[in-house]
Amino acid sequence: METVADYFGSLVFNDCVMRERLPKDVYKALRRTVDEGKDLDINIANAVANAMKNWAIEKGCTHYTHWFQPMTGITAEKHEAFIAPAEGGKVLLEFSGKELIKGEPDASSFPSGGLRATFEARGYTAWDPTSYAFIKDETLCIPTAFCSYSGEVLDKKTPLLRSMEAISAEAMKILSLFGTDCRRVITTVGPEQEYFLIDKKDYDRRKDLLYTGRTLLGARSPKGQEMEDHYFGALRTRVSEYMQDLDRELWKLGIYAKTSHNEVAPCQHELAPVFTTTNIAVDNNQLTMEIMKKVAERHGFACLLHEKPFEGVNGSGKHNNWSLSTDKGVNLLEPGDSPKDNAQFLLFLVAVLKAVDEYQDLLRMAVASAGNDHRLGANEAPPAIVSVFLGDELTEILDAIAEGKPVSGRTKERMQLGVHVLPAIPKDTTDRNRTSPFAFTGNKFEFRMLGSSFSVAEPNTVLNTIVAKELRGFYEVLSSAKDFTAAVTELVRETYIRHKRIVFNGNNYSSEWVEEAARRGLMNLASAPEAYDTMLSPKNIEVFDEFGIYSSVELHSRYEILNDEYSKTIHIEALTMIDMINRQVLPAVMAASKGIAEGIVAKKAALPDMRLDAETGRLAEIEALENDLYAAVKELEADVARAAAFSGSPLAHFYRNTVIPQMAAVRSSCDALELIIGQKDWPYPTYGEMLFYV
Ligand code: ADP
Ligand code: MG
Repeated sequence: METVADYFGSLVFNDCVMRERLPKDVYKALRRTVDEGKDLDINIANAVANAMKNWAIEKGCTHYTHWFQPMTGITAEKHEAFIAPAEGGKVLLEFSGKELIKGEPDASSFPSGGLRATFEARGYTAWDPTSYAFIKDETLCIPTAFCSYSGEVLDKKTPLLRSMEAISAEAMKILSLFGTDCRRVITTVGPEQEYFLIDKKDYDRRKDLLYTGRTLLGARSPKGQEMEDHYFGALRTRVSEYMQDLDRELWKLGIYAKTSHNEVAPCQHELAPVFTTTNIAVDNNQLTMEIMKKVAERHGFACLLHEKPFEGVNGSGKHNNWSLSTDKGVNLLEPGDSPKDNAQFLLFLVAVLKAVDEYQDLLRMAVASAGNDHRLGANEAPPAIVSVFLGDELTEILDAIAEGKPVSGRTKERMQLGVHVLPAIPKDTTDRNRTSPFAFTGNKFEFRMLGSSFSVAEPNTVLNTIVAKELRGFYEVLSSAKDFTAAVTELVRETYIRHKRIVFNGNNYSSEWVEEAARRGLMNLASAPEAYDTMLSPKNIEVFDEFGIYSSVELHSRYEILNDEYSKTIHIEALTMIDMINRQVLPAVMAASKGIAEGIVAKKAALPDMRLDAETGRLAEIEALENDLYAAVKELEADVARAAAFSGSPLAHFYRNTVIPQMAAVRSSCDALELIIGQKDWPYPTYGEMLFYV
C-alpha cells in the first residue's frame, strides 16, 4: 500500500530531488545562494532549469509558470508551454536558466497604487530560490518576486524577504554579544487557518456568496453556536472525507498539514500546519487556501475563506504563530533554563514588547480589511486594540526585575540576569488566554488578529521589521557597555517599565478593557480606513525606509491600494445587496403579499363573516416592512451614487460611515421579512439550511 511517506512532497522540487538530480557543484552553488543569499550564476541557473524541466516533464507537466503574489492578496500565474519548434514539424522541450530566473508578465492589470502608469506595462518576476518549485495542474510553478520596470516592488514577497534579512542581521548582532554561535536567524511561522464548508448547491443559489464571499442578508437560524457542540466535535462523514483528501493534496505539495478540527461555529473548521521559515509558510498558506477551495468542489462543498461569512456566528481568522530561531534550530523565544539563555530570552522578549507598543498602528494596519472589520472590535475575537498577553509567570518575573525584587516563591535571591537561574516557565500555564490579540504561548508569539483570507506576508513583514528596529537599538546600547551583564539587566528593566502598558493578561472582550486601554494611551483603531490612515506617519515611513523594506513611494502606493481595495469591496457588496433586494427579495415579498390579499378577497367573498386575523395581520406587517425595505434600498442606491464624488481615503471613509450603516438598515428590514414569508417563497437558502446541511 502507498504510504504518506511515499507521496509526501512528490510534487515538489525539494532539496532531496535537487541533490539527486543536480551535478554536485551546481547543487552546492545553489545551496550557497539559498543559505547565504549569494548571487546566482547563469550557468548554474541553466543547469537547474534543465533538471527542473526534466523532472517536471517526467511528472506529466507541459507548462511552467512564474508563480507570484501581487498586491491583490491572491497568487497569479501566466502559463508558458515548454515547447519550441524543431525541424520536420517536431517539437523540442525547452526551459533555460534565463526563463527560470526572470519573467516579464504584463504588469498593467495588477494594482500598483500609481507606481506604474499603465503605459509602462512592463513588470518583472524574479525567481525566489529560497522557496521550492512545485507542480500544480500539470504546470511547473516557480515561486517568484514581482517588481516594476523601475524596480519598485509590486508584490508581497519582496518586502517579506527584505524584512527577514533585516531581522536576521540585527538578531545576529545581539547574539554575537552573548557569544551565541550561528550564521543566520530565521523567523518561523505556523499559520492556523480557519474556514467554513457549506454545500455547493446552497452556495450557488446565493449571489452574495458568489460575488462577495459572505452573506449580506439572512435572518438568524433557530439554532446557532449557543450549544457549543461543534468545537472539536465529531466530524460529519463528508467533512472528514474532505479533510483526508485535502491533507493528501497538501502533503503531495510538501506542506506539513498537521491538525484538523471543528471550530466554534457550525460548519467551521481549522487546519494548522507544522511551522516553517516565514517565506515558505507564506507560500504554503497561499497554496493551502487555493487547494482548500479546489478540493471542496470535488466533495460538493464550497469553502468559504471570508472573515465573516455569516452574521451572528463566529467569523474566521488566521493565527500567526511567530518565533525566531537560529540556523541551528535553536528557538530564541524558548525561555530555556540556564542563566545565559534566560537573559538572552528576556532581551528578545522585551524587544518584541517594545516593538508592539511603538508600532501598534502598523500591526493593526497590517490586519485591516473590509472583511476583518466584522471581527476586530465587533464583539468578537480579538478586539481592535493591540496588546500583548504574557501570562502571570512571565509578568511576575518582569515585574520583579522592574522593581529589583525577588520573584515570590520561586527564587529567593534578587533577580540578576546572567547570574541566577530564572524559574523555568511551564508552557502549559501560559496558553490560557484566548482573547488576546498578541499572546506569548510558551515559546512563540501568536498574533491572532489576521483575517482568514489574508496573505500572511504583510503582517510578518511588519513584525520582522519592527522587531529588527528594536534589536538594532538594543545593540547600540549593549555593544558599548562596559559591564555587559549589568547592561542587559538594566535594558530589560528599563524597556519593560517603559512598555509595560502594552501588556494585558485579562479579558480583552470586556468593556472595562476598552476604558483601561484608553487610560493607558493605547490605540483603538476601530475600522480599516482608520487603521490605514496611520500608515504614513513619519515614524512609520522611517522604520520601513531604515531597513529598505518599502521606500516612501512604495508605502504611499500601498496606502492607495489598500484604500482602493476597501472601497471596491464595499461597493461590490452594496451593488450585490441592491441587486438581491430589487430582483429577488422584493418580487418574492410582493408575490407573497399578493397571494395573501387574494386569499382574503376570496375568503371574504365565500364567507363575509370570517375574521381572517392571521391574513390581515400578516399582510399589514409585510406591507410595513416592505415599505421600509423599499425606502432603505432606494437610500442605499442614492448613497452609492454619491460615492462617485470621492476617491482615496475619503472614499473609504464614506463607504465606512455612510454606505455600511445603510446596508445594515436594508438588511434589518429584509431579515425581518425573511422570518415571516413562507419558506418555499423565499428566493435563496436561509442560514438554517446552509449551516445545518446533511
Ligand atoms: P493552538 O490551537 O493551541 O494555538 P495549534 O496546534 O492549533 O495550537 O497551532 C499551533 C501552531 O503553532 C502550529 O501551526 C505550530 O506549528 C506553530 N508553532 C509551534 N512552534 C512554533 C514556532 N517556534 N514558530 C512558529 N510557529 C510555531
Ligand atoms: Mg492558536
